[in-house]
Amino acid sequence: MALGPLLSRRLLLGSGAFANWLAPARFADAASLAAARAAHPPRARPAAPKLVMLDPGHGGKDPGAIGVSGTYEKHVAFAAATQLCRLLQADPRYRVEMTRGTDVFIPLEDRVGYAQSRGADLFVSMHADALADHDVRGASVYTLSNTASDAQTAALARRENSADRFAGPQFRATSPEVAQILASLVQRETRIGSARMAHDAVAALGAAVPLLDNPARHAGFVVLKAADIPSVLVEMGFMSNPLDEAALRQAEHRARVASAMKLAVDAYFAASEHITRMAG
Ligand SMILES: [Zn+2]
Repeated sequence: MALGPLLSRRLLLGSGAFANWLAPARFADAASLAAARAAHPPRARPAAPKLVMLDPGHGGKDPGAIGVSGTYEKHVAFAAATQLCRLLQADPRYRVEMTRGTDVFIPLEDRVGYAQSRGADLFVSMHADALADHDVRGASVYTLSNTASDAQTAALARRENSADRFAGPQFRATSPEVAQILASLVQRETRIGSARMAHDAVAALGAAVPLLDNPARHAGFVVLKAADIPSVLVEMGFMSNPLDEAALRQAEHRARVASAMKLAVDAYFAASEHITRMAG
């Protein structure tokens, strides 16, 4: 993955609020800043459509979690992502792509790499995993962290990351560039964006479907490691819980999840626009 050139491109061209926060530092004093702003008033034309990358978990030879009555996570994830994709496609503020459009296996790092190569503004990975405890149910939202927020989340991250056991050995190592970028400013901006999106997703999902206790969690999910794209992973429920599995098999329940996620995407980008305007 050519992360170096990507990072500098993002820094030079700027990505929303970050570029605007940096810009004032070039001016010696407030007067010259005001003069520069007068010479370059904010553009009135509407912002270009944001690219949302939806990532249906698993696929192909990797079924993901297998539900108590035999439902495959990969099918539930794909169905829900497709429903959300249609809602976003109907809104001219967005462009939307999916990391997989069929039942095909894609290594985790390729999903991240594809989102980066397309210049995605937001990455949403959709899952419905399993835990040993079949009583645990409800939706939850995950952001990237080097350490898991709790033991249950650590177990989930191990399961999700182990999807790459289906891939070749070249996908098992984390590249040194990733470690380097974790320390960068871009990564910090991304982390703030991811946390905002997770907050918006928890709020919207909480109004629509049952939530797990402490629904905003974090762990070292490989699929969330794009240093320059705010990313969240949504566990829509647990295939290991009979109630969640039955619900997720229904298009009507998945539509509630998709509608909630659409509202979360709306809230995320509305706040991003606001931050950009305030900073500019
Ligand atoms: Zn999964």
